[in-house]
Amino acid sequence: MRDVLLDVRDLAKAYGRRQAVDGVSFHVRRGQTVGLLGPNGAGKSTIVGIISGILDADAGTVLLDGAAVGTRGHATRRRIGLVPQDLALYDDLPAIENLKLFGALYGLKNAALAGRCAAVLELVGLADRARDKPLTFSGGMKRRLNIAAALLHEPALLILDEPTVGVDPQSRNAIFETLAALQGSGMALVYTSHYMEEVERLADHIVIIDHGKVLADANPAELYARLPARAALHVELAAPLSGELAAGLARLPGIAGVSGESLAWDVRLEDGTQAIAVLDWLRDRGQVPVHFATARARLEDVFLDLTGRSLRD
Ligand code: ADP
Repeated sequence: MRDVLLDVRDLAKAYGRRQAVDGVSFHVRRGQTVGLLGPNGAGKSTIVGIISGILDADAGTVLLDGAAVGTRGHATRRRIGLVPQDLALYDDLPAIENLKLFGALYGLKNAALAGRCAAVLELVGLADRARDKPLTFSGGMKRRLNIAAALLHEPALLILDEPTVGVDPQSRNAIFETLAALQGSGMALVYTSHYMEEVERLADHIVIIDHGKVLADANPAELYARLPARAALHVELAAPLSGELAAGLARLPGIAGVSGESLAWDVRLEDGTQAIAVLDWLRDRGQVPVHFATARARLEDVFLDLTGRSLRD
């Protein structure tokens, strides 16, 4: 598979007796964005720490273009950029000086360093703030400066560990725009998150992790196809619906589940056309909806179906 850039095989890592990563394998193709999705504590940071050569694995291999990545594989490590969960910036040094420090760590000097600093500031949309200090920046701008720092050495793969944590919605959009520009340039990305909607928006491929194991490794369309319900109908009634009637509703063909109580009910539908049958069925039993709304099924329900838990319990 020549288009595979990153090949992660059978990774394992324990902290004392806690098995944080337990036989994880997946790969990233050139130009692909892979979303590593899982709840807090799933093992995502440990996995990206091993991939980026910061942590040693107990077992398994990480290959970038066929060459091993490890804490001692310096040349290969240089082809990876990491945006860690915790910001690494000097708050009272101007943005451009922060970048020069990072650039020097990668061995960049003089004109090459100046050129790369200007290019990455432009890429993350901070060119006009180069002389300003991060302490005057919003959370999202700091995060974008950290992304710029990780891009200085022109990595083949950029890894972002929960980059939207603690970031307001407007800055979040600015981060997404930066990432879309990187995707457009053909860079491969690995993006960790516990938000399905973020991963769904960015990733061509989703690896779902829980308790250090891979539960699913598929593209969003394949994950949607696995959902038992494709749509949902929310109804609010004028009079309470008995549990007995609700159970009858759940037995209608094409209904994947009914939940709720009294006046408000949610019906999971195999497809959206069954909404009409549900409303007819309610009307025939004298139940008048005062409000109803349909929605597509949420990809987040894949996690619920796989684990019996929601992503953010
Ligand atoms: P995530 O990034 O998905 O939140 P982590 O990789 O940070 O998950 O953590 C996976 C598991 O390993 C968790 O149970 C966490 O408490 C544990 N863990 C992470 N780092 C350490 C550490 N340095 N020492 C001990 N346990 C750790």
